Amino acid sequence: MKHNLLIFFCITAAALSSIIFWETDYLWFVLAGIAILFLGVTAYGSAQIQANYFVKSINKCKAGGKSIALTFDDGPDPDSTPRILDILLENDLKATFFVIGKKAVQHPELLRRIVDEGHTIGNHSYSHHYLIALFSRQKLRTDMLRCNEAIRDITGRAPAFFRPPFGVTNPRYAAVLKDLEMQSIGWSLRSMDTRAKNKYQLIQKIISTLKPKDIVLLHDHLPLTADTLPDIIGHCREMGIKIEPLPRLIGKEPYEKH
Ligand SMILES: [Zn+2]
Repeated sequence: MKHNLLIFFCITAAALSSIIFWETDYLWFVLAGIAILFLGVTAYGSAQIQANYFVKSINKCKAGGKSIALTFDDGPDPDSTPRILDILLENDLKATFFVIGKKAVQHPELLRRIVDEGHTIGNHSYSHHYLIALFSRQKLRTDMLRCNEAIRDITGRAPAFFRPPFGVTNPRYAAVLKDLEMQSIGWSLRSMDTRAKNKYQLIQKIISTLKPKDIVLLHDHLPLTADTLPDIIGHCREMGIKIEPLPRLIGKEPYEKH
């Protein structure tokens, strides 16, 4: 919708500029400016999940007062995921794991443990291919559906939540999510755990930006995230911030009904 408005605006601006600047030296500069604006806004909208530009994602909790939700992407991982599950269990906390389908089929026991311990599983695509944002609509649909089927085969339930790999969206995601009746879940706090060099850098990033109602993006395939999780939990406790399950805080059912 936002993109359609941009297309309308740019075409109208280009048409008006062509009339106004016809036979002047400025016409090509003005048209180039409109083209740059179009590409810039489109690129920003694709890369910024919070912009809700192509896909309407849930990027923040609605209920819960001072509560936040923890989400973990890119697992399951045979080393770090069990460590993270142990820490969550010790602290009686529930999180959401957006799993990669091809990793899930390699570690079905971890998926069963995630579910058995009361956490939520979401779809993070089957391949997590670095060019997935360029997949055709049909190829993307097959990839996302394959992840859902893998999760259903292992746990008996198919997820209704999807997190776009790399947070990149486009009109094909919008169409496939609608078709599969899935809800895109973004985040409001990107911990940058994939780039943090040590746990102090990671905890500092979280402490300095954490707010009530945040959906926190972490990665359960990273040893550093497992190392830092007790500090993150401790900080929340000191701040009086509760960690609650994402489905409760956004008021959405996390699995397909049928
Ligand atoms: Zn990912």
